[in-house]
Amino acid sequence: MATPHRTQVAIIGAGPAGLLLGHLLQRRGIDTVVLESRGRAYVERRQRAGILEQGTVDVLRASGAGERLDRRGLRHDGIELRFDGEGHRIDFPSLTGGRSVTVYAQTEVVKDLIALRLETGAPLVFEAEALDVTGIDTDAPQVRYRHGGREHVLTCDVVAACDGFHGIGRRALPNARTFERVYPYSWLGILADVAPSCDELIYAHHPNGFALHSMRTPEISRLYLQVPPDEDLANWSDARIWDELATRFAIDGGWKLDTGPITDRGVTPMRSFVTEPMRHGRLFLAGDAAHIVPPTGAKGLNLAAADVTLLASALLRWYRDGDETGLDGYSADALNRVWRAEQFSYFMTSMLHVAPEQDPFELKLQLAQLHYTARSEAAAASLAENYVGLPLPGVAELTA
Ligand SMILES: Cc1cc2nc3c(=O)[nH]c(=O)nc-3n(C[C@H](O)[C@H](O)[C@H](O)COP(=O)(O)OP(=O)(O)OC[C@H]3O[C@@H](n4cnc5c(N)ncnc54)[C@H](O)[C@@H]3O)c2cc1C
Repeated sequence: MATPHRTQVAIIGAGPAGLLLGHLLQRRGIDTVVLESRGRAYVERRQRAGILEQGTVDVLRASGAGERLDRRGLRHDGIELRFDGEGHRIDFPSLTGGRSVTVYAQTEVVKDLIALRLETGAPLVFEAEALDVTGIDTDAPQVRYRHGGREHVLTCDVVAACDGFHGIGRRALPNARTFERVYPYSWLGILADVAPSCDELIYAHHPNGFALHSMRTPEISRLYLQVPPDEDLANWSDARIWDELATRFAIDGGWKLDTGPITDRGVTPMRSFVTEPMRHGRLFLAGDAAHIVPPTGAKGLNLAAADVTLLASALLRWYRDGDETGLDGYSADALNRVWRAEQFSYFMTSMLHVAPEQDPFELKLQLAQLHYTARSEAAAASLAENYVGLPLPGVAELTA
């Protein structure tokens, strides 16, 4: 592909945020260039999130990116909270007016969006590393990038930095303020070739620490164990991982965890992080470039989708009608949703994890909250409403 030098919206990063933004804008006639520092195979294989909120499914489906998702995604109508040797189901549709979540791996969302973009011929340049963003106070900002061993400059109307937590976009934002919380534990995550031992996700609180049973497909399980920060994977043989998972998921009366070959493993630190504002001049941040949540609330990918839905609808109004109000309100509107998700992710994380040398008082509070959530319809409804996600504005306008 020829190296592009001019476009309307320059998008840095081909993760879910950048790809979805490019897809939503291209289908409404707005030109975009997506620059991605890694190769296609790497981007398509990177194991990460797997739970799509109702609003994320709605926007993918309504924008024509839901065909494989509808065939292969697994609708989940609830989760189980497991603690004190018992399981308690939270039913989503009855508590949220019929809403639910869908299990469909981030890798598949990314593959679908890449395939759609390549079909249209819209520029998506792999192995193109953005180096810096300049001119954001002018009407022709520029992204300098390296591709094919040379440096190039992409001039545009607007830059969307969708380049994740370690990207360069955030650095170009002057006077940004950051808020951060690093948790004293990590998640050891595995992918295993074994049918899930449950129909819905299990969130387990156990004296040894948190465990999560999730899945990717009817044949592939995704499981997590709370471990100390920066835990060395070498300390965890396959047998030790399966034994510890079985211990943390055990319930009175017995429950069997099926095991199988582990095909992928990794340790993920737990962090909350927000940058404010998410816009300066012609530079807009979206997704992990602006905020990180611990994965306990399954919000990271969904927040990325919500940001770019909001941004795409604001850009559409600007290009079509000359209306700047959406762009002016983008940062505040996105941050409202971000902080709601930050609070929910913090709530789920603090309720379910065992801090190192945990104070017994804290443990009693966690159990009180878990029992309350299991017994009170109001508490369960609050968890369910946040888990399935608040409605996503802007979808109808973008997909009309
Ligand atoms: C191990 C792990 C597990 C997770 N599990 C969950 C989960 O269970 N549930 C959940 O909801 N979320 C989870 N998340 C979070 C979720 O994956 C992210 O929130 C989501 O990927 C955000 O999408 P994004 O497009 O904003 O950023 P990213 O997916 O990080 O994409 C950013 C892209 O920008 C590219 N890039 C970076 N710098 C440059 C540059 N200079 N030039 C060009 N390109 C660049 C990167 O290569 C990348 O492709 C997890 C994250 C990790 C790391």
